[in-house]
Amino acid sequence: MLPRYIQTGSDSLYDDLVQVSAGLYKKALTDLPPDVRSAVNRVAEVEVGGARTRLDVMVKSIDVSDRTGIIVCQDTGICVFFVKLGTDFPVNGAKLIDALRRGIAVATKEHDLRSSVVHPITRENRQDNTGVGIPDVHVEFVDGSEELEILLVPKGSGSENMSYLKMLSPAEGISGVKRFVLDSVIDAGPRPCPPTVVGVGIGGTADLCAGLAKKAILRPVGEPHPEPEVAAMEQKLLAAINATGIGPQGLGGSVTSFAVHVEYAATHISMNPVAVNIQCWRGERAAATISSDGAVSYGY
Ligand code: SF4
Repeated sequence: MLPRYIQTGSDSLYDDLVQVSAGLYKKALTDLPPDVRSAVNRVAEVEVGGARTRLDVMVKSIDVSDRTGIIVCQDTGICVFFVKLGTDFPVNGAKLIDALRRGIAVATKEHDLRSSVVHPITRENRQDNTGVGIPDVHVEFVDGSEELEILLVPKGSGSENMSYLKMLSPAEGISGVKRFVLDSVIDAGPRPCPPTVVGVGIGGTADLCAGLAKKAILRPVGEPHPEPEVAAMEQKLLAAINATGIGPQGLGGSVTSFAVHVEYAATHISMNPVAVNIQCWRGERAAATISSDGAVSYGY
């Protein structure tokens, strides 16, 4: 039997994709991933004083959102999609991106979400959380797969504003990279709403490096890099960051970050780029997998 989307033609698929995109936006803002919930609960048990009070507010915000469907934090974010497109999944790429954009607009209207997206020069707000180039859509191809995987991260501005990039010299080595990460987290202080996940990109070109730092925050909280040397570096950076004592919401404490995740790419012999992208405590993300027979499953 031919897959449903091949049998029925493309309109059905793009209508479904609009609904999936809209559903992911609402889900990401209201249904925090289990790994984020566990991290918040774990830290709430160890912190004391003002930091503990802030953690209690976070736990309560999650609970209220679960019971009422109100978004966990007021910031609806700026939407970034990460798409894995199977080469045997029948889709027109341009129409896919358009459907994802339309879904964000539909969800904004249906759920009365604040529109956080403006034109960068005029500051005009279309009131639908879209604009030129937004949502930002990254596509990877998966050879031989019949599935379409869509991950949405509506990135809060508090944490996205705390993004850093530096083209270090090779002479500064990996110790220069570590110093830059620590300096960045100290500079960010309470502004990205800690406890955070610190995404670190190393290598590549300037834009690839910044993209790797963002890709790093997509991993479930604390999932180590598969290469032991990189995983060890993540642990050392995490210990150094938590030793700063910035703590939850900058109120002092033993946990400034839940985790550090590192991703890397090869680079030029005379380059040593490093980038930092921070995810706030809310850790919003939602995912859907669509198979070519039309089945949709949701996750994180
Ligand atoms: S950084 Fe995160 S937790 Fe802080 S205000 Fe923005 S979305 Fe909310």
